Amino acid sequence: MDYANNILETIGNTPLVKLNKLTEDLPCLVLAKYETFNPGNSVKDRMALQMVEDAEAEGILKPGGTIIEGTSGNTGMGLALAAVVKGYKMICVISDKQSKEKIDILKAVGSEVHVCPTDVAPDDPRSYYSTARRLATEIPNSWYVNQYDNPSNTKAHYLSTGPEIWEQTNAKVTHFVVGVGTGGTISGVGTYLKEQNPDIKVWGIDTYGSVFKKYHETGIFDENEIYPYVTEGIGEDILPKNVNFDIIDGFTKVTDKDAAVYTQRLAKEEGMFLGNSAGAAIKGLLQLKERFTKDDVVVVLFHDHGSRYVGKMFNDDWMREKGYIE
Ligand code: PMP
Repeated sequence: MDYANNILETIGNTPLVKLNKLTEDLPCLVLAKYETFNPGNSVKDRMALQMVEDAEAEGILKPGGTIIEGTSGNTGMGLALAAVVKGYKMICVISDKQSKEKIDILKAVGSEVHVCPTDVAPDDPRSYYSTARRLATEIPNSWYVNQYDNPSNTKAHYLSTGPEIWEQTNAKVTHFVVGVGTGGTISGVGTYLKEQNPDIKVWGIDTYGSVFKKYHETGIFDENEIYPYVTEGIGEDILPKNVNFDIIDGFTKVTDKDAAVYTQRLAKEEGMFLGNSAGAAIKGLLQLKERFTKDDVVVVLFHDHGSRYVGKMFNDDWMREKGYIE
C-alpha cells in the first residue's frame, strides 16, 4: 500500500508546469512551480510545518499549546493543518483587507480568527502585528510564530522548494521569479539555487505601495512608498528579516489592475485557477521580457489557489467597480 500517515506528509513535491499562451512572445521556456497542490492549497504549508517542527524541537511550542500568528490567510491555513494533526490550538490575526473566503477557510479548519484594520501603522496597537504580539503575552502556553522574522520560514524553502526546482529542471533553471511578502520563498529558493549555480538570476515581484523595490535599489526605507494597495499576499510596509536582499538581483513592481487582470488571464488562457499574487508574478515576469534569451529556463512560483479570490479578482462586478475591466 502507498499512503501518507497524515495530511502533513503530503506537503511538497509539487509539479512544474509549462506556460504556453501568456508567454508566447517570450523567447524562453517558462515553468510554473505550482504550489496549490499542497494540502492547504498554498506554498505556505511548507514553511508552516517547518516553523512548527523547529519550535517543537527548540521547546518553545509545548504540548497543549496555542499557536498565534498574524497571517494573510495562507500561513494560517498551513499552521492550522499542523495544529489539527499535532493537537495544538490555533489563533489567526488577520487584516480586514483580506478576502472573506480566506477568513471562512481558516475557521473551517478550526482556527480562531481576529480581524484588525489594515490602514494603521504596524506599531499601532490595533495593527495585526501588534494584536498578535499582545495575544501571545496574554495567553498562557502560547507561541507567537512571527513568519516575518522566523528563520524557519526561509529554511523550509532552502530545504524543499529550492532543491525540487533544481532537480525538476535538471539543473537547467536560469531565472527564478517570485512575489515577495515575508521573503521566505525568494530567500530560501534563491539562496539554494545560487549555491548550485551563482549565475542564476533571482527576481522579486513587488507592488505599488510597498517598500521593497526602492529599498533594494537605494538602501533607503522610504515611507513615501507606503500606501494602501489591493494586491494580496505580496509587498510590505516593513522590512522582514526573511528578505535576504543580497541574493535578489532586482525587483519589478506590478500595478493592482495588472495583477487582477492577469489573475483572470491565467485561469482563462492557461487553465490555471490561482491567487492574486500569481497574476502579479506572471505580469512581472512579462515585464522582464528583455532580460530573457532563447536558452533560458525561467521558473515562476505560483503561491496559492483561485478559490480564495472568487469574490474579488474572479468577480466581474468587483473588477468593474475597481475600474480593472470595462
Ligand atoms: N502570495 C501569497 C498569496 C502569499 O500568501 C504570500 C505570503 N504572504 C506571498 C505570495 C509571498 O510569499 P513570501 O511570504 O514567502 O515572500
